Amino acid sequence: MPVFANALAQLKQAVDHSHLHPEVAARLKAPERILQFSFPVTMDDGTVRLFDGYRVQYSSARGPYKGGIRFHPKTNLDEVKSLAFWMAIKCAVVGIPLGGGKGGVTVDPKKLSKGELERLTRAFARRLAPFIGPEQDVPAPDVNTTPEIMAWLADEYARIVGKQVPGVVTGKPLSAGGSQGRVPATAQGGMYVLHELLAKLKLKPQALTVAVQGMGNVGGIFAQLAHQAGMKVVAMSDSASAIYNPKGFDVTAVEHYKKEFGNLKGFPSARSINNAQLLELPVTVLVPAALENQITGTNAGRIKAKIVFEMANGPTTPEADAKLAKRGITVVPDVLANAGGVTVSYFEIVQNLSQYYWDEGEVMEKLKLIMVTAFKHTWQRAEQLKIPLRTAAYVVALERIGQAIEVKGKY
Ligand code: GLU
Repeated sequence: MPVFANALAQLKQAVDHSHLHPEVAARLKAPERILQFSFPVTMDDGTVRLFDGYRVQYSSARGPYKGGIRFHPKTNLDEVKSLAFWMAIKCAVVGIPLGGGKGGVTVDPKKLSKGELERLTRAFARRLAPFIGPEQDVPAPDVNTTPEIMAWLADEYARIVGKQVPGVVTGKPLSAGGSQGRVPATAQGGMYVLHELLAKLKLKPQALTVAVQGMGNVGGIFAQLAHQAGMKVVAMSDSASAIYNPKGFDVTAVEHYKKEFGNLKGFPSARSINNAQLLELPVTVLVPAALENQITGTNAGRIKAKIVFEMANGPTTPEADAKLAKRGITVVPDVLANAGGVTVSYFEIVQNLSQYYWDEGEVMEKLKLIMVTAFKHTWQRAEQLKIPLRTAAYVVALERIGQAIEVKGKY
C-alpha cells in the first residue's frame, strides 16, 4: 500500500483549513532532496552483497533535516519519503528548530551477524557523510536501529572528517555523547500527552484498558509506563505474535518472557491472538507502536477502542481516519504523540554542541513542558476549527513552516 499518497492526503486536508500561501503549500508536496544509494558490504562468508539505502531530506525551512534511519526488509523510497515528511511536521508541532528527514536501508538486520551489521552501518555512513552534520542533517534511531548503531555511525563520520562531531547523530549511547532520557523519550513523551488528553476527557488512568501493538523501544517502554501509571495493559504484541488477557498483564513479566523465548507465543494465562486481532479488541486505548498502514479502510469499522494513540509513524490511513472520526473515536496523531523522541534528540544536539550535559530530571522536565504545550496548541486549534486532532496538529505545524519559508523570501 503506498504511504506517500496518504501523507499528501493528510497535508491537503490541513492546507484546506489553514491560510497557507499556495506557493508555500506547493513546497511541501515534494522533498527538497532525495539521496539513493546502492552500496556493497562484505558478508562473513566472504561474499559481497549490494544493499539499497535512502536518505530523504524533506524540508529545511525550520532548521537542519532531522529524523531516524530504519533497517527493515520492506523499507523503500515511498516509505522513507513519507516518514521524512512526517518528521518535518512533527518538529514543527513541538516547535523545535529542526526540519524533516528520514533514512532507511532495505535489510532484515535480524538475519545479519553483529559484524555484518556494523560493516553495513559504516558503509552506509560513508555514503551519507557528505550530506550530514549537526548543521545539515542529523540521523537518529528508528525501527531496528539502536544506540550502538548510532555510535558506529558517529565513529565512522569522525574518521572521515578527522574530528569528533557527536552532534552528527542522536540517540547515541551515554558513553558516546548521548543524552540522559533519550531511550525512554518517545514513550515518556507520549505518556505526558496521554495524561493531558485523559484530563480533557475526564478519564482516570486506573479506568483504562490498553492494547499495545509493538514491543520495540517505543511500544515496550510505553506499555511499562502505562502499567506503572495504573492502566490495565490487556494486550501486547511483537512482529510475530500477540497475547491478550482482559485482566491485564504484568508488563515486566511479559518483557522477561520475550527476552527469554524470543517471542510471546505460549505466555502463561494469556490468549494467543494475532496482530490484526489485537487492533480490534474492546479496549479504551489502542496504541499502534509498530509500522505504518495498520488501521485502514478495511478494519477501521471494527476498531472498538475509544482512543487511538499513535506511537508508530503513519499507522492510520486517511480513509480509516475518516471512518474513525465518524464513529467518534479520538485519534491522537503520530506527529504529536511520538514527538518525544525527536524532542530529546534536539536536547542531545544542544548538549553535544555546548559540551555540557544535563541530568535525567532536567531532560524530563524540559520534555514535559514541550509535549504539554504542543498538546494544548493542538487541542485548542481542533476545538476552534472543529477538526480532528491530526488536522489540527498539521495546521499548527504548517503555520510555523509557512512563516519560516515566507520570512526567508523566495530564493
Ligand atoms: N525515529 C524517531 C521518530 O520517528 C526519532 C527521530 C529523531 O530522533 O530524530 O520520531
